[in-house]
Amino acid sequence: MKEMTSRERVMAALTGKPVDRTPVANPTSVATVELMDLVDAPFPDANRRAEQMARLAATSHVDLGFDTIMPVYSVIQESSALGCKMQWEGKGNWPTVRMSEPIWKTSDDIVIPDDFLDHPDLQCVLKAIGILREEFGNEVAIIGKTMGPWSLAYHCFGVEPFLLTSLDDEDETRRILDKLAEATVIFGNAQIEAGADALTLPDHATGDLVSGEYYHRYLEDLHSRMVEEIPIPLILHICGRTVDRMGFIANTGMAAFHFDSKNGPEESMKEVDGKIALVGNINNPSTLYAKGPAEVREEVYANLEAGVQMIGPECAIPLQAPLENLLEISRAVKDWHAEQAVPAE
Ligand SMILES: [Zn+2]
Repeated sequence: MKEMTSRERVMAALTGKPVDRTPVANPTSVATVELMDLVDAPFPDANRRAEQMARLAATSHVDLGFDTIMPVYSVIQESSALGCKMQWEGKGNWPTVRMSEPIWKTSDDIVIPDDFLDHPDLQCVLKAIGILREEFGNEVAIIGKTMGPWSLAYHCFGVEPFLLTSLDDEDETRRILDKLAEATVIFGNAQIEAGADALTLPDHATGDLVSGEYYHRYLEDLHSRMVEEIPIPLILHICGRTVDRMGFIANTGMAAFHFDSKNGPEESMKEVDGKIALVGNINNPSTLYAKGPAEVREEVYANLEAGVQMIGPECAIPLQAPLENLLEISRAVKDWHAEQAVPAE
């Protein structure tokens, strides 16, 4: 098969078409302190200024050999624009929303401002995508990120209050999610216009807090609606053990699911049954952060052998993860394919 560009490879994998080799993809953050130093684009500036954001993101392709560039390192850009209380932190930490100080109590409080997209923290993302599109043309896949309504509800209502509402009042929960989903769609479509090829849609209905049945009840249909309203491939991201909801996720029409290493590659492939591509799932806290290239390679191979369509870290990688482990991901993918190409004796 003729050699593809990184962009062709990723877009083919996201749409179920053949690839020349498995793409290495980064649907969440590959920002690390080492990479920030390499291109002089440290947090918190790289979360708030378009030039730094784009420069740090480009390292994913230029320095790490990934087939994607993804400039949105955090989960808080939209929440900042909605008025949440922010903690921007310094170089060694991700910015966070102060969820202990929620801004809303009921669905009636929710307001998506008319000038939502003009907020500097959303403009920063849109401009960074524009800069990257300009710089890389069609060579590499540029992935944006728009947060799903479940995550936005945690940020704006607080985790516990929102989970309590979801237990007590199904109608109110649906009203909250419906209204917040508007923000997801608006920001997603603006990123398409800015030049994104695909979008990660993190929606933290995580295995430790809610069940698969909850996903089915509250999010499956809503995520299908996101697919209809945001017309480029979407990559759903949910952390934790999620095998109990992968069957539901596979029905949404999302292009891919970015899965956590708490789920085995084989059981996950079986669960999604070819209806959706999988991206993942190199472990962050123990492997990429604390182990070495040999262990990284082992996990890459396990995913490739299971047929996982795109290889990458399971979630935003730890800021202190060593460069040599990240470099090993694309090396291992290329080596595995080279080994497959040698005819068996
Ligand atoms: Zn995650």
